[in-house]
Amino acid sequence: MTTVFGLIIQGKLPSTKVFENDRILAIKDIHPVAPVHILIMPKKEIPNLHSLQKEDWPLIGEIMEIAQSLAEEMGIADGYRVLTNNGTDAGQTVFHLHFHLIGGRVLDKLG
Ligand code: 5GP
Repeated sequence: MTTVFGLIIQGKLPSTKVFENDRILAIKDIHPVAPVHILIMPKKEIPNLHSLQKEDWPLIGEIMEIAQSLAEEMGIADGYRVLTNNGTDAGQTVFHLHFHLIGGRVLDKLG
């Protein structure tokens, strides 16, 4: 089922794009938790990491490469976090696979 990110990818909802190619879109998070908070997602509708199929794994490498480039571009190469929430218990609210790129301040320890 199409999510809010699916609608953004289709151009039916607005977003602030920071990167786009045929396979991947990166946008600013609407509710940033840090000075830099970008969401990097495949255009293909994949609900989350756990539902990835074997043929989709190259997308993850490309997303990590884009995260690295964006971190450099945003001036946060010295300290940033890339994460994905998988499933409701982990805090996933939009069921279209996306990775958060967060930085620009000292980040809280996990746990
Ligand atoms: P999740 O909780 O699924 O890991 O992350 C969803 C993220 O999407 C949240 O950080 C939330 O702020 C962001 N978000 C939800 N709706 C929109 C939207 O319409 N536009 C943008 N740019 N971000 C959104």
